[in-house]
Amino acid sequence: MADQKNRRLRIIPPVHEVVSALEHGEEFRPFLANDGPRLTLAIRQALQELRDHLLGEEGAWPWASPADAEREAAVMTGDAEEAEVEARLWGWLREEVLRILTSRSAVSLRHIINATGVILHTNCGRALLAPEVADFVAAQAGHYSNLELNLESGERGSRYVHVEKLLCALTGAEAAMVVNNNAAAVLLIMNTLAAGGEVVVSRGELVEVGGSFRIPEVLKAGGARLVEVGATNKTWLRDYEQAIGSQTALLLKVHTSNYRIEGFTHAVSARELVELGARQGLPVVEDLGSGSFLDGSQLGLPPEPTIGQSVEAGLSLVSFSGDKLLGGPQAGIIVGKKEYVERLRSNQLTRALRIDKLTLAGLEGTLHMYAEGRGPDLPVWHMLAAPPALLREKAERLCSALSDHPKLQAEVQEGFSQVGGGAWPTVNLPTWVCALRPQSGSVNDLEEFLRRGSLPILARIQKDRVLLDGRTLLTGEEEEIIRRLADWC
Ligand SMILES: *Cc1c(COP(=O)(O)O)cnc(C)c1O
Repeated sequence: MADQKNRRLRIIPPVHEVVSALEHGEEFRPFLANDGPRLTLAIRQALQELRDHLLGEEGAWPWASPADAEREAAVMTGDAEEAEVEARLWGWLREEVLRILTSRSAVSLRHIINATGVILHTNCGRALLAPEVADFVAAQAGHYSNLELNLESGERGSRYVHVEKLLCALTGAEAAMVVNNNAAAVLLIMNTLAAGGEVVVSRGELVEVGGSFRIPEVLKAGGARLVEVGATNKTWLRDYEQAIGSQTALLLKVHTSNYRIEGFTHAVSARELVELGARQGLPVVEDLGSGSFLDGSQLGLPPEPTIGQSVEAGLSLVSFSGDKLLGGPQAGIIVGKKEYVERLRSNQLTRALRIDKLTLAGLEGTLHMYAEGRGPDLPVWHMLAAPPALLREKAERLCSALSDHPKLQAEVQEGFSQVGGGAWPTVNLPTWVCALRPQSGSVNDLEEFLRRGSLPILARIQKDRVLLDGRTLLTGEEEEIIRRLADWC
C-alpha cells in the first residue's frame, strides 16, 4: 500500500515541467498575457490537490472511481500501464489548472447559495444580515467613524456605547457589553467572577457546542473549577444548596441548546437559582446560547425563554450569541447588573476578546431593527416564518423549470427544514422541496456538481434524491440553480 502510494507520488511531475508543458497551450494564453505568475500559482495548487488526494484517506487519483482504483492497483505493473496513468494525469492537470484560473475569483471566501433549508447553517456563516444592515456595515468599512470618540466632548469614548443603550432598552437590563462571540462571553465571565473558585453547574447542562466549545473546558480555561450537581435527567434546588461552600464563586445555568432531555426530568429555574444566589451572596449567570428577543411560539414553535424573561428573572449576567436567532453578526452579548458588567470591562481579557468595528456596525443595525419593531423582517425570522404555501410554490417553480431536463427527474415533495445553530434542535419545520433524481451519475455526483460550480450551490441528499429547499433561497437564486442544472448531463 505504502509502496503504491510512493510510486504514484513519484509520477507527479515537478512544477517547472508542468509550466513549460502548459504555457504554450492555446487555452492558457489569455492568462499568460497579463499574468504569468498566476499560471504557476494555479499549477502549484493543482499539484498540491493531487498530492492531497493521494495522501488522503482513499489514497487514489482524483479522477479515479473506487472501481478504477482497484483495477489500476491490479494492473499497474508495467510501463504501458504507467503511460496510461500519465496520460490521464496530464489531462486532469490541464483541466484542473484551467478550472482554477477561470473560477470566478481567486479569493477563498465565496458567496454560496444555501438550498439546504438549514437557516442557521454554522458551516455557511449562520445568520444573514438584513440587506440594510449589510449596507450599513459596508459604509462603515470604508469610512472613519466615531468608534471610540465622543463627538460631543471630542474625547476618547467607548466602543460599547453604540449598542449598550439599545441592548438595555430591548432586554430591560441595567447594563450590557459585547465581545467576539458567546464562547468568549462565557470565558470572560468565568475569568472575571470565578477564577480560582468553584462554579456550580447541573449535570444535565454540561453542553458541548460544535467547534469544540464545552462548558467544563471553558470553565477551566477561565481559571474556575467545575462542581457538577444533580443527575443527567434531574437536578433539584437542594443539589445546588448542598454544593455551595466557601470556595463557591458563582452558580451557572446553561441552556441545553442543541439537545433535549425528555421524559423523567427536572431542572431548576433561573428564578429559583437567583433566589438561592441572593440568600448565599453569590452571582447567578445564565449562558442562554442562542437567545432571542422574539417569542417563537407565535410561529407555532415550542416555547423558549426570551432574553427579556431571563433578565427579568434577576440573573446577574446573561450571555448569548449575535448570529443565532438574534439574526445579526457573530458576537457575544452580555446583559445584566451594572456592577458585574463593570467588572467584566475592567478585566484585561476584554481587550483580547473585543468586538471589531464591522461587527459592531452589524450589531447596531440589527438591534435598531428590533427597536423599531422590525425584528420579524430579519432574514432569520423571515425564513422561520415562511408560509408552507409559498415554499410549495417555490418548489413547484423549480421542478417545472426542470421538467423537460433530459438527465434529471424533478418532483415536488413534502419535507422538513431545520433551524440550525443549536436552536430548536428537535423542531422540524414543514416545507416543500424540489427532489432531483439524476438519470446519469449518482446523487453524490449531482450534489458535488452543484457545490463545485462558479457560484456554489449547497443542497441536501436524502436517500436517492438531491433536495432543494426554497426556505433558505434568496431572490434570484432559483434562476441561478436552474441555470446551473441546465449544464448537468
Ligand atoms: C452556541 C452556543 C455557545 C457558543 O456561542 P458562539 O457565539 O458560537 O461562540 C455557547 N453556549 C451555548 C449554550 C450555545 O448554544
